Amino acid sequence: MRFDVLTLFPGLFAPFLEQGIVGRSIAQGLLDVRLTDIRDYARGAHRVTDDRPYGGGSGMVMKVGPIVRALRDLEPVEGTERIALLSPQGRLFDQDLAWELSTLDRLVLVCGRYEGIDERVREGYADLEISIGDFVLSGGEVAAMAVIDAVGRLVPGVLGCEDSNREDSFEEGLLEHPHYTRPPVFEERSVPEILLSGDHEKIRLWRRAEALKRTRERRPDLLEGAHLSEEDRKLLRDPK
Ligand code: SAM
Repeated sequence: MRFDVLTLFPGLFAPFLEQGIVGRSIAQGLLDVRLTDIRDYARGAHRVTDDRPYGGGSGMVMKVGPIVRALRDLEPVEGTERIALLSPQGRLFDQDLAWELSTLDRLVLVCGRYEGIDERVREGYADLEISIGDFVLSGGEVAAMAVIDAVGRLVPGVLGCEDSNREDSFEEGLLEHPHYTRPPVFEERSVPEILLSGDHEKIRLWRRAEALKRTRERRPDLLEGAHLSEEDRKLLRDPK
C-alpha cells in the first residue's frame, strides 16, 4: 500500500520511516511512503505557504494554492485512493476506519499547521478529514504517523505471526488481555499461575475472561457493541 504525505516538515518523518514495523515493511516493499514538501509548490522568492486569515483574527492559515498544486503533481497510481486531511474536526480515527483505509491502494494525507488549512482544500479536493482524538496538536504530522502505523499494520504481510493483530485491542470490540513475560517473579510480583500451567484451554479461558473484565471496567461503551458468545456471557457472570 502506498501513502503520500503532504507536509511542511518532511524531516519529522525520518526515524519513523526507518525503524520498527513500518521501516521493515518499507524495506520489504509492502508499504511505500512518499513525502511531499508543500513548500516546493509555493510561489515567489519567499515561497510563502501561509497567510493571514480573511476576516482578521490571530494566527496564520495554510494557503490553498501550494497544497492543490502538490496534490495535482502526485504520481498517478492504479486502483483506489482517497485524499484525507488531518484535522481535529475530522472523523475520529478508530480501528474500523483503519481497516477501511487499509483496503486502498493509496492514501494521501495532508498535514495542516498554524490555524489550519484554507477551507477550499477540504471543499474541493478532500475525500475525508481524520482526527486522531479530541485534542489539538500543533500539526498533522504526528497524526499522519499514527494513521500510517495503524493502517499499515493491517496490510497483508506487514505483521509476521510473532506480532499478529488477531487479538489486538478493538479487533473483536474488546480490549486485549494483559501480557507477561520472564521472569516469573519480579520484586514479589508473580505472573498469574495459570499462564505457567501449560494448559492451553485454561489459558484461553483466562485470557478471554481478562479481556472481558478489563473492557467492562475501562471501556463499557465497547462492550455494548461487542458480539458476545454464550461462553463470553458466562465468563462475565463468573470469571473463575
Ligand atoms: N484551528 C484548528 C481548529 O481549532 O480546528 C486547529 C489547528 S491545529 C493547531 C494545526 C493542524 O494540526 C491542523 O490543521 C491539523 O492538521 C493538525 N491537528 C491538530 N489536532 C489534530 C487532531 N486531533 N487530529 C488530527 N490532526 C490534528
